[in-house]
Amino acid sequence: MEELVFGPVPSRRLGKSIGVNNIPHKVCSYSCSYCQVGKGEKIQIERQEFYNPDTLVKQVEQKLNMTSHAEYPDYITVVPDGEPTLDINLGKLITKLKTFGLPVAVITNSSLIYLDDVKRDLSNADYISFKVDAVNRSIWKYINKPHRKLDLHEILNSLMNFSKYYRGKYVTETMLVKGDNTADIELAATAQFLQQLKPSIAYLSIPTRPPAFENTFPPCEETLLKAYEIFYWHCLNVEYLTGYEGNAFTSSGNFENDLLGITAVHPMRIDAVKELMAKTKTNDGVLEKLVEENKVKKILYERQTFIVRSFNK
Ligand code: SF4
Repeated sequence: MEELVFGPVPSRRLGKSIGVNNIPHKVCSYSCSYCQVGKGEKIQIERQEFYNPDTLVKQVEQKLNMTSHAEYPDYITVVPDGEPTLDINLGKLITKLKTFGLPVAVITNSSLIYLDDVKRDLSNADYISFKVDAVNRSIWKYINKPHRKLDLHEILNSLMNFSKYYRGKYVTETMLVKGDNTADIELAATAQFLQQLKPSIAYLSIPTRPPAFENTFPPCEETLLKAYEIFYWHCLNVEYLTGYEGNAFTSSGNFENDLLGITAVHPMRIDAVKELMAKTKTNDGVLEKLVEENKVKKILYERQTFIVRSFNK
């Protein structure tokens, strides 16, 4: 039988998570320029049955039975190599997965949220991550290469509507693509929309693996910092999601570990870095060495010096 369930895998967002692949490879309503599973083989918006939900649930059950107490997952996550809401049985699947007593998360590109049955299915999930890369139609078309019948305006309105009554936790993910959606005006427009949407966390991510299309690159650290600041000034709880699973939330007492962990999630102002140095009895030379080794960068932004994690290798 095809292996449709994987993990548990560690994830900063969800702790340990078992992944459920409810869609065949690359079946999606988008064909994003940065897609890590390659160019879309089948771009569709019609929902259909792909796998019997009982088959998926059985595989999750087997996986959970094989998992030790220490590795036991915190979440079951529906996260296929395609768009999970194309599965017409998504609602049934979520209901059945919930019988394991674990919260269920769905990572979606948001494109089908205008459909009533998708809204109904998703409302049963405990956690949803919505993709919002751009609110400008031509940029959205360029980056996400949507199915021709999709309408961005309708998607964004429906998302806003859904957020008003959804009772679970929802976050957003904005992929930053160098030169495509990183102009100040575009970032501000996206941040304005997200400010109204009120996600628990607005994640900023960058392409970290080889993308589907050539000429798709991650932005530089300066742009990442700028995006962070623009989101922050729109009152968003913003975090980086860049493939580095740093732990910003516990202090190890080791300056290098703590600095790399924190800056994987947030840029740090130099005064906060100095405080951390004082706390861990670290001298300036250690920070300078990390800069020399290109593990972190010093960036001047709006007359403040920030220390940011180096993401571009
Ligand atoms: S929405 Fe996800 S799976 Fe679909 S094309 Fe974009 S990145 Fe790939």
